[in-house]
Order: sequence, then C-alpha cells, then structure tokens
Amino acid sequence: MTGFLKDREGQILTKGVDPRSLVGGKPSLAGSVSQRACVFCGSRVVLYPIADALHLVHGPIGCAAYTWDIRGAMSSGPELHRSSFSTDLREKHVIFGGEKQLYQALDELIDKYQPKAAFVYSTCIVGVIGDDVQSVCKRMEAKKGIPVIAVMAEGFQGSKKDGYRIACDAIAGLIGTDDSKDVSPVSINILGDFNLAGELWMLAGYYKRMGVQILASITGDGRVQDIRNAHRASLNVVQCSGSMIYLAKTMKERFGIPFIKVSYFGIEDMSDALYEVAKFFTDEEIMDKARELVKSELTTLLPALEPYRIALKGKKAAIYVGGAFKAISLVKALRLIGVKTVIAGTQTGNAEDYTLLEAICDDGCILVDDSNPVELSEFVKQTGADLFIGGVKERPIAYKLGIGFCDHNHERKLALAGYEGMLNFAREVYETVTSPVWRLKR
Ligand code: SF4
Repeated sequence: MTGFLKDREGQILTKGVDPRSLVGGKPSLAGSVSQRACVFCGSRVVLYPIADALHLVHGPIGCAAYTWDIRGAMSSGPELHRSSFSTDLREKHVIFGGEKQLYQALDELIDKYQPKAAFVYSTCIVGVIGDDVQSVCKRMEAKKGIPVIAVMAEGFQGSKKDGYRIACDAIAGLIGTDDSKDVSPVSINILGDFNLAGELWMLAGYYKRMGVQILASITGDGRVQDIRNAHRASLNVVQCSGSMIYLAKTMKERFGIPFIKVSYFGIEDMSDALYEVAKFFTDEEIMDKARELVKSELTTLLPALEPYRIALKGKKAAIYVGGAFKAISLVKALRLIGVKTVIAGTQTGNAEDYTLLEAICDDGCILVDDSNPVELSEFVKQTGADLFIGGVKERPIAYKLGIGFCDHNHERKLALAGYEGMLNFAREVYETVTSPVWRLKR
C-alpha cells in the first residue's frame, strides 16, 4: 500500500490478501482529508426531518448555509424544517457574546412560526466564546411553554458520528413526555429512516398491510408529539444503526423497549426486515401477511430486474457511504443485478460492522474505513470500477475519473428503499454505467 499514510494502514485491507481485521471507529488522522462532516452537521442531519419543530443554528451564517435543506427528507404536513434559521453571529458577538441575539431570535421565531418544539444548535464559535445556550433555552422554554432543546454540537468536538449521539440525546429528552396518542398492541417506532424521497411512506404501506402501527418515525416525516409518545411502542426497528443505535439503547434502558437492526435496501434485507418484525410479535397472522406481501412484490419485481441484470453482468462497483449497514445492503443489491463490489468503505463503521461487511464481500475487494479522495481515486484506478456509489463528496471523484456515479446519500431525491426502490436503483445503476458519455472521456 505505498502512497498511503502509514498510520492509516489498519483502516485499509484487501479481502483474501490481508489476514487481519479492519479497524473502525478511530478519530480521523491529521493530514488525511477525511470525507466525514463535522459534529454539528451530524446532529443536524438526524434532527432535520422533524418537520413541526423550529431548527435554529446559533453561529455564523455559514454553518446554517452549509446544512440548509440538507436532506431530501419529505413531510406529509408542516415544512418548517426546510427553513434554515441562524443567529448570524458576527465579530461583535464574538467579542461581547451572542446570548442576547439568541434569546431575541428564539422569541421572535417561536411567536411567528408556533413550532411544537425548538432545537438550538451550538456551533464551533459558540463553544469558543462560551455562550450559555442551555440557560437561554431553559428561559425560553418557561416563557413559551414548548420544549426548547439545546443541541451542544460544536463542530470541533469530533466527527459527525459524535453529532449523531448528541442528536439522540436531544430526542431522548422529548421521549416519554406525553401519553395522549392511541397505541395499538402491535406498534413499532421506526428509527433511522429519514423519509428521503418519500421512502418512509412506502415502508408505512408495507407495515400497514401487515397490521403493524408505526407510532413514531424518528426522524423521517417526524412530529414532536409522536416522538413524545414513542416510549409506548412495543418494538424499535432501527435502520441507520450508525445514527440511531444509541437512541435505541437508551430507550431499552429507560423504557424497556427492545430493538432490532434492519435495512430496507435490496430485496433480501427488505424482506428480512418485515419477517423480523413479524417474528417479534409471535402472531401467525402477521407472519402470513408478511409472506404474502413479499411474494406479491417479488412476483412483479424479479422479472422487471432481469433485463438490468443481463445488461450489467460483470460490471464493477465502488461503494463509499456513511454507515456499514447501508454498505452491506448495497453489496447484496448489486450482486442481485450482476454487479461485483470491488471497493467497500464507510465513514462511521466499527470493527463489528466491518467483520459483517468483509464476510459478504468477494476476495479482492478493498475495504476501507474513513477514507479520503486520494485513496478513493487510487482504489478506483487499481480495481477498474465502472461505477461509484456514494454521496455529494464522492460525486466529483467519480466524474473526474470518468466513471458513472449513483447518489445513495441523504441529499438524493430518488427513492431507493423497499421493493420499488430496488427497481429504481437497478435503473439508476444501468443508466449511469451504460451512458454513452463515458466513451468520450479522455
Ligand atoms: S466545523 Fe464548526 S464552523 Fe464549520 S460548519 Fe461545523 S460547526 Fe460550523
């Protein structure tokens, strides 16, 4: 592995060649331009889809602009989450403090938009000047009678994974504060689906066909009242485990709610998710409905995928995404349409995740933790990948190297989860890999 930073050696391996485990969960190395976002950004992407809450970024305008409308998270009702409010801190606030500015902004915004709760994000400069954000939030909560939650997510504290944990704490503060919703004995909370391109609505349709109630969706198409009632569900179903496992564990400790980890990407994992939920309720009728649903979906989906599988056979893909569960599902989904994964990496995987990821990859696949553009470009050249699947920061890498790119990150506007999503995914991969534009590259 010449050309790579020596201290990153443990975070890169080739399956079948390097007889050791991949190291995960380390802080990013200085000098390696990590693709990870900051702590504030991590907290913002998790909380953003709570649509009837006010989200106020206490900091310079750039922090708010950087995370404005950061997800393609859709709402079936209010859309307050899509406005990015900022206290717009300037030099004078850095010198004299920004608490007064924050108090005034909250006062005005809560009166104007009547949110069900407010999240106040603390950014790097606020951590440096030492504004007492929690005390301002407490005073405002007493004045307005809604939860006003300080999200102490100064960007420099770590990486976006630390922001996930801080966001989970903010949500946990809301859970258990209301008991007014009607709850079925067969109810679940969905954790870690963010309703990108309306994916949650597809999943809600599947669960409805099985007779399972979704009590709270955390946080896709999220509502404050649902979250306040979430402690009364029978089961937590966790998809994006990187961002939400901490909340699932907290809810297990505080309210005794068990959780299962699932993925909704690809046929295999989507079907397993439904079966696992059915199995939990130990009710034959729910299991029969799940079987019926899977059978009817596959009857139409499998023949529709066949032309893509034939056209894509032998193509090679590079995957670099946020969480390891998504990477695992992608390897399986790509295999189903004839595409081999030659690079599989994540920003936030841990050692346990990487053992699972390595197990499903083929020999020769490069596995990487917390990579950077130089490494990723080099791996693409080495493996001859035809396609890159990643997020906004990986797109230019793919295009500069003259290969197709498929967006599988939180900005995307195309539903890729569930059975319909699998067909969209196959079509997207096919269209980008076979585009005639790649023939013109120099
Ligand atoms: S690193 Fe700090 S300054 Fe930059 S976006 Fe994150 S919170 Fe704002």
